Amino acid sequence: GPSASAAGSLPPIVPGWEHRSSGKVRDVYAPTSDGPWGGQDVLLVVASDRISAYDHILATPIPDKGKVLTALSAWWFEQLADVVPNHLVSLDVPAQVAGRAMICRRLEMYPVECVARGYLTGSGLVEYRQSRSVCGVALPEGLTEASRLPEPIFTPAAKAELGEHDENVTFERVVQMVGEGPATALRVTTLALYSRAAEIARDRGIILADTKFELGTDADGDLVLGDEVLTPDSSRFWPADAWEPGRVTPSFDKQYVRDWLTSPASGWDRDGGQEPPALPADVVERTRARYLEAYERLTGHPLELS
Ligand code: ATP
Ligand code: MG
Repeated sequence: GPSASAAGSLPPIVPGWEHRSSGKVRDVYAPTSDGPWGGQDVLLVVASDRISAYDHILATPIPDKGKVLTALSAWWFEQLADVVPNHLVSLDVPAQVAGRAMICRRLEMYPVECVARGYLTGSGLVEYRQSRSVCGVALPEGLTEASRLPEPIFTPAAKAELGEHDENVTFERVVQMVGEGPATALRVTTLALYSRAAEIARDRGIILADTKFELGTDADGDLVLGDEVLTPDSSRFWPADAWEPGRVTPSFDKQYVRDWLTSPASGWDRDGGQEPPALPADVVERTRARYLEAYERLTGHPLELS
């Protein structure tokens, strides 16, 4: 299955921090006892330039992608701070990971991917076509690809192991997993975050079709927003002027990667059990430009890369 080293990027050595774990995209560190954050209940979350597509970590990194994810998450945390507190403590990190890392409060994460959907696509559409519902939420008849939902819905998924698909679950299942009070708090908070974010994006000509949050509790047991938020990796952003129900809307970020991987040029068989090939330079460059464009369109200013 996929591993952090698939993109040839071993987690960087960071003074004052020791590597603890790596996901598809992020490397997580704990403070060493003799470093500046020693003894504090924090983590260093470093966003690499790794990119995944079709459940594979690709062999080719996208330069500066980790910086875009970090800066965009930090910007959103500030926009959403009055909806729910977040885990960001400081962006003042060692030079080795400057711009791509945040020091965060360590949370006890809920094992639930808190997904909100305002539009129907992807796994939501697949489920709707089978059951006319998504995660147990009944929907009206006649919806199609990219349809706007009557109202945003909470469609949680159970977090899967690295390389496995997250599994869509019902709200009742979340209640079984975390208890009724926390499950309700996750749903209410997810929908409140989605509405606020969708409104902000809408003002900038972008539809937030769906997005995923990860929440946890802090040392006091209070609910806190963790992980990354509202990045192209965790969200479907659609240019509002390209949206048309019944048609697949090209997304902001991975369109070139997906198109190339499934084109004859790549020579890759998606179902053949092989790792995807390295990306050509022009696909890398266009994808990089898309990530930077998403940042710029949402925040209203270009990302300063140092
Ligand atoms: P993917 O996002 O690609 O599905 P992943 O979520 O397993 O995979 P990453 O996103 O690459 O991995 O790594 C971030 C990890 O750190 C996740 O497991 C996430 O739940 C965890 N995490 C994020 N914020 C915090 C926090 N404040 N405290 C503890 N764990 C956190
Ligand atoms: Mg993640």
